[in-house]
Amino acid sequence: MKKKTKMSKKNNKLQNYDVVIIGGGMVGASQAAALAHLPIQICVVDAGPGKSHWSPEVYDLRVSAITRASQNVFINTGVWQGIENRRVQPYEEMHVWDATGDGSIDFYAEDIGEPNLGHIIENSVIVGALLDVLKQHDNVNYLSHSKPTALEVSDTSVQVSLDSGQTLDAKLIIGADGARSWVREQLKIETEGWSYGQKGLVTTVKMSAEKTPGAWQRFLPSGPLAFLPVSSDEYSIVWTTAEAAADHLLTLDDAAFIAALNEALGSSEIGEVINVAQRAAFPLRLQHSKTYCKSRVVLVGDAAHTIHPLAGQGVNLGLMDVADLTQILERAHSKHQDIGVYSLLRKYERKRKGRNLLTMFSMDGFKRLFCNTDQPWVAIRNSGLSLTHKLNPLKNKIIRQAMGLTDDFPKLTKNPE
Ligand SMILES: Cc1cc2nc3c(=O)[nH]c(=O)nc-3n(C[C@H](O)[C@H](O)[C@H](O)COP(=O)(O)OP(=O)(O)OC[C@H]3O[C@@H](n4cnc5c(N)ncnc54)[C@H](O)[C@@H]3O)c2cc1C
Repeated sequence: MKKKTKMSKKNNKLQNYDVVIIGGGMVGASQAAALAHLPIQICVVDAGPGKSHWSPEVYDLRVSAITRASQNVFINTGVWQGIENRRVQPYEEMHVWDATGDGSIDFYAEDIGEPNLGHIIENSVIVGALLDVLKQHDNVNYLSHSKPTALEVSDTSVQVSLDSGQTLDAKLIIGADGARSWVREQLKIETEGWSYGQKGLVTTVKMSAEKTPGAWQRFLPSGPLAFLPVSSDEYSIVWTTAEAAADHLLTLDDAAFIAALNEALGSSEIGEVINVAQRAAFPLRLQHSKTYCKSRVVLVGDAAHTIHPLAGQGVNLGLMDVADLTQILERAHSKHQDIGVYSLLRKYERKRKGRNLLTMFSMDGFKRLFCNTDQPWVAIRNSGLSLTHKLNPLKNKIIRQAMGLTDDFPKLTKNPE
């Protein structure tokens, strides 16, 4: 184990770590929390302010539907309590229906003997709880307002220079710096994928009716409209639509936006939207890195893959990357092996690539199937939805898999009890 050198912002002395994580968002900070119990020195480098902007008065515009497997990652790393102490909304039901037919499917937690199907959590709540946990670990140093400027890999270590003048030396660099990853660019790792020509418009809305918290998703020909509960009568919405349409929706006044949203939602058990918060829209891409690692450098989360948000799987996939990589690094560390060697990092890549690609292309297939207005496709998907709805064993298998309740997941995703 190397000793951590005392940090000073303007100090360009070489500082030694075992692991340097570039990007301290939901995935990078989770990776640090997952490795923090090992007797190794970890540095997290993030361009942002290093504090969460969560406020108990207003809902964060960005929320994530967190699966059971991801919840277990947070429980096992000591982060869940901090999440619960802030704000979290479990949901017990999920309803999906097609706007161009009568196909629909409903999922209930009680059908699979679970207390809920997952949790809707504000991204700032997750980051806030993660930062609290990282502060408790003496072996984790979080450098905020910091960007890397150069990366140099040698046989035995990797060095990263920061814009502060500091240089960090490590056995392993983990790139968790999001979809436009600087780390990926330095390694000249190519990506494949495409823009969907769509944006995901997000806001928080208040409804006219109270209801058992459930997630509601209506598939419109222009894209899915998701209502994710943050209370019994408030929802965070993700409205996926063509870029120009999303930009237009952003310009509407509240009354006109609410009218458009109610028309898109149609008649439903959650009633009508009566109030709306501020709005924002994010361009949507499918993007996959051709490789996840090179010697001494590895990618996790959106740096390795970005996915259509229709099934809310993006950060969940990133947390599964964290769980698998952690298990591989823990084993190597316990055997006193070098944690930065390519053969070890390839094990992680082999584990994750297939699973990530399968989820990405399933979601892409869903998106294409549901945006298709050709009559044969409309008929096929509506009867497919209704048939699956009636086949309880198949339906329950789908939902258990989506929740990450499968045997072959890594240790960190398992319920600790
Ligand atoms: C509209 C929408 C809805 C979504 N809903 C869901 C959902 O319900 N469930 C779900 O699982 N996923 C969802 N996602 C996807 C999810 O938001 C992403 O998968 C997730 O944010 C990826 O986390 P990350 O930590 O890998 O990357 P990011 O969240 O992008 O974090 C990257 C971090 O790296 C830092 N950084 C970037 N560049 C640098 C640099 N050069 N130097 C230092 N630091 C740097 C940033 O400051 C940031 O902290 C949604 C996405 C969208 C667009």
